[in-house]
Amino acid sequence: MPATPAWPPKSTPRLFVEQPLELGATLNIAGNSAHYLLGVMRLKEGAPVKLFDDISGEYLATVARISKRDLDLTVETKLRARETTPDLWIAQALIKKDRFDWIAEKACELGVARFAPVLTARCVVDKVKDDRLRAHMIEAAEQCERTALPQISPLTKLEALLKDWPAERSLYFCDERGGEPFLETIKAGPAAILIGPEGGFTDSENAYIRAHPNARPVSLGPRILRADTAAISAISIWMAKNGDWCA
Ligand code: SAH
Repeated sequence: MPATPAWPPKSTPRLFVEQPLELGATLNIAGNSAHYLLGVMRLKEGAPVKLFDDISGEYLATVARISKRDLDLTVETKLRARETTPDLWIAQALIKKDRFDWIAEKACELGVARFAPVLTARCVVDKVKDDRLRAHMIEAAEQCERTALPQISPLTKLEALLKDWPAERSLYFCDERGGEPFLETIKAGPAAILIGPEGGFTDSENAYIRAHPNARPVSLGPRILRADTAAISAISIWMAKNGDWCA
């Protein structure tokens, strides 16, 4: 007896929608999302689409009506509640745009709760486009099947970031000059990982960070990693030890 095929099929497209989702609602999809569903995925009426809203969870909808530039989806089944995201922030000094966007995308896939762009003395870039960052996060969340988007903090100077630092949150300061082995330093509870820019932190920034009561200077090994390599490595180590990578 052939096994009944899983439903919805693995290839079911998955979209983030800005408006809150509820069973029975009909949504109109236009613009790029409509182009993707109609032009790329070539969906027909009755086809399934997974939707999530970063509020209530993930739903299965079906294509109710199609026209040249838009389509209607009817929300039919709730598949999952919104996830509980591991309580990890990544505080990343600005680096060149394409690599910075890459860190944002990977941080989303790896499960971070918040992405905090930081301005430090040696940043060669001094502004970040929030809508572009959010678009990268949404695309990554759609692909990796997250039901919650990472929160994105406004660009903050290092001093301001540390001045208002939450008392309960450990600040793992990835210091290329050396620190405790990261894996052994990680303790339970809310956490953040701080990564510098291509040029690293200045001496005064290094001393300023180390003077913070929540700061834990950690090493990611004997080699000098690029900021993006350091960010992804540190997030992965934390996720494996304290995140949701273990059962
Ligand atoms: N300009 C520095 C390198 C900066 S690398 C130099 O050439 O010496 C960018 C950031 O990645 C650093 O600020 C640090 O946060 C992180 N990083 C790189 N290698 C690291 C290591 N071995 N241990 C801890 N953090 C590291």
